[in-house]
Amino acid sequence: MTRLAVLLGDPVAHSLSPLIHNVAFAETGISARYYSARTPAHALSAAVEGLRRPHVLGANITIPHKESVLGLVDVVDESAGVVGAVNTIVRLDDGSLVGHNTDVHGFLAPLERDRVAGCNALLLGSGGAARAAAFALASVVKPASLTVAARRHEAIQELFSTLSSVQGATKFEACPFSEAASIAREADLIINATPIGMHPEVDHSPLPGDSFRAGQIVYDLIYAPRPSRLLRDAEAGDAQTIDGLEMLIAQAAAAFLLWTGREMPEGAVRMALINA
Ligand code: NAP
Repeated sequence: MTRLAVLLGDPVAHSLSPLIHNVAFAETGISARYYSARTPAHALSAAVEGLRRPHVLGANITIPHKESVLGLVDVVDESAGVVGAVNTIVRLDDGSLVGHNTDVHGFLAPLERDRVAGCNALLLGSGGAARAAAFALASVVKPASLTVAARRHEAIQELFSTLSSVQGATKFEACPFSEAASIAREADLIINATPIGMHPEVDHSPLPGDSFRAGQIVYDLIYAPRPSRLLRDAEAGDAQTIDGLEMLIAQAAAAFLLWTGREMPEGAVRMALINA
């Protein structure tokens, strides 16, 4: 029986997940296919029910359904529950569905823990990826401070209240998005979790070009283009940069492991993505 994994979202046409997982299935000899299924909101519930069929391994969930799918699965794991978003569903043998958030693991993958422990972090955005990053930072990296800069103050407050269960010594601060530029140079770690600068708006950046300095790490979750305008500016300012490719690979590897019990062949996947 050929097994099936599917991406549910709207839009899905530009997703790299089918490439990643079909390369991984071929390399590991697992008889499975990964499809994108454009799923408008009114069709989400039926699409999730369809995941209970025996040949289904599971699904990835993308914009705009990561939050709404929480109520459609049978069990939500801890990180997905705290983040308030599911990006991976696993079908268990009895047909029940478990929601996970592999963006948390993916976000941490390219960060050198020793370099960022106790840092002052500035996170741009308060959406799904920002919440996964904030949970990963607060629960694993434990920065001295985490400032979240976003357009909607209430979204930042909601994020901080969900993080209260993992709050250690980290000091949380909110900042209007329009004021992020004035504090960026002081941050040791800057994370862009907004889509500003993503293809096709490749000349846009969430921060002015003079926001960077040596000794800083600037991490853009965007993987198209690589590097983004933000990272080009950060490199020019002698900051260390990280783009979104390794997070993309690591979150997919975590989903692949959950579905198949096998390690994803990351080298082959990385080559396929770089050549795509
Ligand atoms: P999302 O849930 O839609 O959140 C986007 C966030 O960006 C929101 O806080 C939004 O603010 C803010 N934003 C959007 N446009 C803005 C603007 N012009 N000015 C200020 N803030 C703006 O999206 P997401 O899923 O978190 O994804 C965010 C980015 O991360 C995307 O570029 C995505 O490709 C990337 N990502 C990468 C990976 C990876 O594996 N590398 C994984 C996940 C996501 P409002 O709430 O006010 O609209």
